[in-house]
Amino acid sequence: MNKRKGIKRIGVFTSGGDAPGMNAAVRSVTRAAIANKIEVYGIRRGYQGMIEGDFVRLRSSDVSGILQQGGTFLQTARSKDFRTEEGREMAYENLLKFEIDAVVVIGGDGSFTGALIFSKEFDIPFVGIPGTIDNDMYGTDYTIGYDTALNTVVQAVDKIKDTASSHGRIFFVEVMGREAGALALKAGVACGAEVTFIPELQTEEEELNRFLNKGFKNKKRSGIIMIAEGDKAGGAFKIAEKVQKEHPEIDVRVSILGHMQRGGSPTAVDRVAATLMGVASIEALLDDQKSIMIGLQNEKIVHVPLTKVVKLNRDIDNELVRVQKVINSAN
Ligand code: ATP
Repeated sequence: MNKRKGIKRIGVFTSGGDAPGMNAAVRSVTRAAIANKIEVYGIRRGYQGMIEGDFVRLRSSDVSGILQQGGTFLQTARSKDFRTEEGREMAYENLLKFEIDAVVVIGGDGSFTGALIFSKEFDIPFVGIPGTIDNDMYGTDYTIGYDTALNTVVQAVDKIKDTASSHGRIFFVEVMGREAGALALKAGVACGAEVTFIPELQTEEEELNRFLNKGFKNKKRSGIIMIAEGDKAGGAFKIAEKVQKEHPEIDVRVSILGHMQRGGSPTAVDRVAATLMGVASIEALLDDQKSIMIGLQNEKIVHVPLTKVVKLNRDIDNELVRVQKVINSAN
């Protein structure tokens, strides 16, 4: 076990799926650390880079000009090796070699699970910053990348709506979300979707049938059905195929938005959230905190134990489900 007196040097890395605003978070962590006389090392390619010793010194100028860039300049990875004891031992050896006293990890649930396991085995404090487009994490209203992804979906669907209404078609639009429907749900409301299919709910088929048999026939003659990729009824292709079989008269199309949802310059909301959380992560470490996630609740910074973050699920926003139904029952 290593005894540490104060924090002189930290590591920072991005892990799991990339999200717009991760660079803004690395910049904020780096600058807040330097402002507090702490040296910073960036760890490239997440836990895999930690295992391979892929560390790079970050000075203030190294994080210039990245605030507005999508992706993550430190890169990210899904590391199988870190799931093994040997892998984590190698990562620890590298942290010792580079004299890293504490680590800031920017990622999702999986990244925080890895951090928890590691900090039970080795005496190095970890603080997490939520970075994922899914906005599915317990303890924070907001995850970095969500707002940018949401706006990307809205822009894409607005374009699809133009062709949907010109041709009188129904478009089944699939958005990211293997286990979480937050992105699809909010995008559905923002885009005026008729129905939104999300993994957390199972009543959407009824809504869809009501739209097909009433709303579509009577008035609308076009429409958007939003589908989170992990929905229990299947993806957009499967749902569209079923509808086409039952309603051969309807002109049905599918659009999978795919990886464009992860890219692009972060919105102001994401940049500000990343900056607030980055500074808060350094202040938490200076305050002797460890194994916590920095979150935002009602626009205020909060500290949430990582044990809770990885164990508990975030509820979906039932108010969004309700208002979408109210709006669409007017058909
Ligand atoms: P996203 O929500 O975007 O998928 P994530 O952080 O949940 O992000 P994961 O791929 O689940 O992404 O996790 C990132 C990395 O964390 C994994 O590649 C692995 O290296 C590490 N990790 C996840 N779970 C564990 C675990 N149980 N033990 C050790 N390491 C883990």
